[in-house]
Amino acid sequence: MSSLRFKLIEEAYNRKPVEVKIPNERSESFYAKAVFNRQKMFEYLPKKTYDALVNAVENKEPITREIADSVAEGMKRWAIDNGARHYTHWFHPLTDGTAEKHDAFIEHDGKGGVVEEFTGKLLVQQEPDASSFPNGGIRNTFEARGYSAWDISSPAFILDETLCIPTIFVSYTGESLDYKTPLLRALNSVDKAATAVARYFDPEVNHVTSYLGWEQEYFLVDEALYAARPDLVLTGRTLMGHESAKNQQLEDHYFGAIPSRVEAFMLDLEIECHRLGIPAKTRHNEVAPNQFELAPIFEETNLANDHNLLLMSVMSEVARRHNFRVLLHEKPFAGINGSGKHNNWSLGTDKGKILFSPGKTLKDNLQFITFVVNVMAAVHTHNALLKASIMSATNAHRLGANEAPPAIISIFTGSQLAHVLDVLEKSTDNELTDLSAKDAMSLGVSQIPEILIDNTDRNRTSPFAFTGNRFEFRAVGSSANCASAMIALNAAVADQLNRFHEAVEARLAKGEGLREALLAEIRQLIRESKPIHFDGNGYSDDWKAEAARRGLDCETSAPKIFDAYLHDSSVDMFARTGVFSRLELEARNEVKWEIYTKKIQIEARVLGDLAINHIIPVATRYQSFLVDNVVKLKSLFTGVKGATIVAHDLETIEKISAHMDVIKTEVDRMVSARKAANRITEEREKAIAYHDNVVPPMETIRYHIDKLELMVDNEMWPLPKYRELLFIH
Ligand code: ADP
Ligand code: MG
Repeated sequence: MSSLRFKLIEEAYNRKPVEVKIPNERSESFYAKAVFNRQKMFEYLPKKTYDALVNAVENKEPITREIADSVAEGMKRWAIDNGARHYTHWFHPLTDGTAEKHDAFIEHDGKGGVVEEFTGKLLVQQEPDASSFPNGGIRNTFEARGYSAWDISSPAFILDETLCIPTIFVSYTGESLDYKTPLLRALNSVDKAATAVARYFDPEVNHVTSYLGWEQEYFLVDEALYAARPDLVLTGRTLMGHESAKNQQLEDHYFGAIPSRVEAFMLDLEIECHRLGIPAKTRHNEVAPNQFELAPIFEETNLANDHNLLLMSVMSEVARRHNFRVLLHEKPFAGINGSGKHNNWSLGTDKGKILFSPGKTLKDNLQFITFVVNVMAAVHTHNALLKASIMSATNAHRLGANEAPPAIISIFTGSQLAHVLDVLEKSTDNELTDLSAKDAMSLGVSQIPEILIDNTDRNRTSPFAFTGNRFEFRAVGSSANCASAMIALNAAVADQLNRFHEAVEARLAKGEGLREALLAEIRQLIRESKPIHFDGNGYSDDWKAEAARRGLDCETSAPKIFDAYLHDSSVDMFARTGVFSRLELEARNEVKWEIYTKKIQIEARVLGDLAINHIIPVATRYQSFLVDNVVKLKSLFTGVKGATIVAHDLETIEKISAHMDVIKTEVDRMVSARKAANRITEEREKAIAYHDNVVPPMETIRYHIDKLELMVDNEMWPLPKYRELLFIH
C-alpha cells in the first residue's frame, strides 16, 4: 500500500497560507533598497567618482583604475551598511542559471585581526576557476583561464547578505564564455545601426536603446508532492502521469481567482522583487491549472535580462518559504499548456521615441514603417537562426507540439498593418502625401487600440507578433536565458539596419531625395520579406506545408535546428556586427549539443529507474493480487459461472502483462540506444542519436505506464497523480 503518497497528499491538503512579512513602508520607499543605484552612488561616492561613473555608463566607456578603486570603496561601505558580509562576481555561464563564488570582505590587518576590504582590482576583474563551466573546448584549445569583469551598466545588488556584482565572463583570449558578453555586443551594434537610421527622421538622436519586457510563466507544486516525484526533482518535468479527468478544458483557471497560498507567495515574491529593483507589475493565473505568470515593466534589455535571471533564482527561494516548488520547465505536464516567456521587444531613441510605435505625422509614420519593415526583413533572413536561439531540449516539448508556437518562425502583423504595407508596396506616390491622411494609411495614435484588439484574438498561435508598439517574441522558453533570443534578434536587426542605411546612402549619393530613397528601399523590403508574414493559424497543418513552400525553415529536430548558428548567413552576420566570431559560434554549438544530450540522458535514466523499480513492481503486485482472487473465486464457483465471474479479472491480468511486456522491452531498447549513442564522440552526432533513438522509446514507455496508472489499484500507485499535483494548493 502506498501509504506514503496518501500521507503527503494529506500534508499538502492541510497547509495554510504562510504569513508574509509586509514592510510597513510604501512600495516606493523600499523599492530598490538592495540596489546600488544612482541614488546610492550619489550618496556613497565622491562627486568626481560619481560623475566619471555615470559618464562611463552613458557613453559606454571604460573606467580608470583610480575611479574603480573609489567606486569599490563606496560600494563596500554601502554594502556593509546594509548587512552584507560577502561579495561575488555574478555571471551567466552557458548553463540554465547564474554563477557566483562568494568571498568575505575580510583581509588580515597584520596585527592578528582582520579589516573589511574591497579594492577596485577585486571589483573590476576576477578569475573564477572556469574549467568547470561549459566552454565548448575554447579553454582546452587555448589553455586559457577565464576571467569575469564588471558590467558597469548593470547595478550591483545585495542578495542574502552578499554583494552581487554583475559581470561578463570571458576567456583570456577574449572569447565569450557567457550570455552577457555577446548580449552587450549585440545591444551596442543595434544602438549604432538604429541610431544612423533614426537620424534620417531626427538628426538629434544620439542613442537607440533596446527594450525588453519578459513575461515569466511558471507552475507551482506543493513541496511534499514534489518530493515524491523523482522525475520532477531530477528533470524538472513529469516523465509519466495520466491526464487528470479535469484539466484546463473548462477554461476556469486563466485570470481566475488566485488561490490564497499562491497569493501569499506572489505577494512575498513581489516585495522581494521590488527590494531588488525588479519592477514586477502584473500577476495572474495562466491557462493550465497551477500555472501562473509574473511580468515586470519593461526595461533596457541588458538590465531586464539580469532581472529575469535574478527573478528565477529569487522565486525558487521564496517558493520554498511557502512550501511550494517552482517549475520553470517548459513542459512539466503532458496534455496541458507548457510555459513560455514572451519577450516583448522594442527600440527607442534617447529622445523618448519608441520606434515601433505609429505616430500622428507623416514623418513619424514613415519612421515607424522603416523600422517595422527592417525587423520583418531581419526575421525573414534569419528565421532559422531565431528558431535556433530559442531551441533547447526542454523548449522542444513546447514548439511544434500542437501548442503555441509552431517550430516555424513567422510574423503576425494584424490586418491593419498588413493593409498599410500592402498599399505602400503598390503605391507609386513618392511624396506619399496620404500616409498621414487617408483612413487606411493613417496610423494615428487613436487607432492603436484598434490594432491591439485586432491582435488579441488571433496572434496566440504566432511565434513573433507585432503588438501595437513592440514585437512579442513568444517562442522563448520559460527556463531560458532571454539573452539567447535577444542576442540573435538585436544582432540580426542591427545588420539589416546597416544594410538599409548603406542602400539609402547609395541612393542619396546618386541624387535621390530622402523620402524617395527611403520609400524605394522600404518597398523592396516589403516585397522581399513577404514570406515571413503570416496572420493565419500557426497550428494548422496547412501552414506547415505553406511555410515549406515559402522557403521558411521547417526543421523540427532540436540538434539539427542548432546548425543554423553555423550557416554562412549567420556566421557572416555575427562577424559583421562583432557579436560572435566563428570560433565562438562553434564552441557554443558544442555546448548546446552537449547539454541537449545530457538532459535527455538524465531523463532516460530516471525513466528507466522509475519504470523498472517503481512501476513494474507495483503493477506486478496488483496483478498477482488479481491472480489470487481469480484462483479463490474459481475454487468457490465452478463451471460456466466461475468462468463468467473471473472473466474481467483475467482480461485485466492479460492487459497488465501486455503493458509490462512493452515497458520492459522498450526500456531495454532505450538503454541500448543510449549505450550506442554514448560511444559517439562527435557532440552533434551524439545529440542527433539521442533525439532519433533514445526519445522515441521514452515516449512509448510513458504511454504504457500511463495506461497502467488507470488499471492498478489507486492505493498502490506510488507516485502522486496529475490531479493531485495540479489541483491541491
Ligand atoms: P500581455 O500578456 O497582454 O502580452 P503583459 O502586460 O503581460 O501583456 O506584458 C506585456 C509586457 O510588455 C510588459 O512587460 C510590458 O512592460 C512590456 N512592454 C510594453 N511596451 C513595451 C515596449 N515598447 N517595449 C518592450 N516591452 C514593452
Ligand atoms: Mg504576452
